Amino acid sequence: MTGELVPVIGLEVHAQLLTQSKMFCGCSAAYANAAPNTHCCDLCSGMPGALPVINQRAVEMTLMTALALHCEVAQISKFDRKNYSYPDLPKGYQISQYEQPIGVQGWLDLGDEMLSTRCGIIRVHLEEDTGKTSHVSLDGSDVSLVDYNRCGIPLMEIVGAPDLKSPEAARDFFSTLRQILMYLGVCDGNLQEGSMRADLNVSLRKADREPGVKVEVKNLNSFRSVQRALEYEIERQREAVSAGHPLVQETRGWSEARDATIAQRTKEYADDYRYFPEPDLPLITFSADRVAEIRQSLPEMPAEKRSRLRREYGITAEAAHVLTADLALSDFFEAAALAASPATGMEVANWSHGDLLRLLHESQSEIASLPFSAADFGRLIALVSGARISNAAGKQVLEAMFETGEGPETIVERLNLSQMDDNEALTEIVKTVISENPGVVTDYRRGKAAALNVLLGKTIKASGGRANPSVVRSILENELGLPGPPSESPAG
Ligand SMILES: [Zn+2]
Repeated sequence: MTGELVPVIGLEVHAQLLTQSKMFCGCSAAYANAAPNTHCCDLCSGMPGALPVINQRAVEMTLMTALALHCEVAQISKFDRKNYSYPDLPKGYQISQYEQPIGVQGWLDLGDEMLSTRCGIIRVHLEEDTGKTSHVSLDGSDVSLVDYNRCGIPLMEIVGAPDLKSPEAARDFFSTLRQILMYLGVCDGNLQEGSMRADLNVSLRKADREPGVKVEVKNLNSFRSVQRALEYEIERQREAVSAGHPLVQETRGWSEARDATIAQRTKEYADDYRYFPEPDLPLITFSADRVAEIRQSLPEMPAEKRSRLRREYGITAEAAHVLTADLALSDFFEAAALAASPATGMEVANWSHGDLLRLLHESQSEIASLPFSAADFGRLIALVSGARISNAAGKQVLEAMFETGEGPETIVERLNLSQMDDNEALTEIVKTVISENPGVVTDYRRGKAAALNVLLGKTIKASGGRANPSVVRSILENELGLPGPPSESPAG
């Protein structure tokens, strides 16, 4: 019997900061797609005697993050050397922060405002990223290559408290944190490129006892892998405990291919790193005024934006959730809603997270690269909402906007899509439809009220999709009279 074994989970997230230069040298931090070892200098390739200089912007971004995560900010923070003996850091040590990180003791709320859980943030600190090693076969022999372009990129580490109780909560922590960093503009959140990576700590605890042996799973870079690695690891630990096998405190990796965690090395402890104060760098000091100034300048955070959008535009919690998942989308929605009057906020929200997102997805493009403005999009929705064009025509116009970038009015004109509400012209079409569909008319007169919708559909089709449905409905009712008493005979 294992009794009630509850998972105890904490995440450590590394995020590359969106600075122009590296953490301690002037090399460009925009290394993606660059040829190996082209963004390097004496300092970040580890030449002895090269002196580091602190990137102020990176410090400021870390401070912004610490404040957004409700941390206490240190008045004096310092860098330390962490001994590190792998070839991806050629100095033989990493400059990191050990005793005096920039922020401590904050928190992050998960879920929505109705049902949120709070996860503690132990610390937020700043360090430098490592280079990248790859093991390849070259001229028939196995060699290891190292690229120092990534070496020295500013890396912020956010250590979450072990407050999470399920793989879903851990996934939520990672995605909520990513959203916050993107709203702050401090990280691009690109998981595939490794701009954000998560390390997981997981152990099992019996009720009323200390957590069991803690296992770390390193370097997860997708929401799915965070969740899967935890599901796997919890199950593996449960089985070991119930079979009476001892668990080892160790670091494991996640294999996507094997859908399993794999032992890598036994866990290192702080002692192994032999931290000591970085002698080449000054202390960082934060004045109360500077901290207050940064706190004041923090942008609106996702949770605040969700409640504001609900309040100001009357949209549902679900719509607010979808829209604010992407800062660009939520900004686009707001600008569109302003131009869409008299359409409601909910109409704009539906168009935004419905057709707009679908077309973006299909064309694999982003809001930033749309060939039309939010105001164009808003006016399109106003045309549909005001029954100037049909809903179907609206979708057609949006697709044309994606292709040509023209304004909605131009496209409506060019494609001749404006809705027909000319009574005479529509009455002519209705009469033709009635004469061509005697069976449906008989059904209607025998009391099958739904037959009216069939005739309505046929009329709209005959008008090339332009007929105003509510006008057609009243003409049809006029021409046909009320339906008779319900038919006794089966329909058909
Ligand atoms: Zn450099």
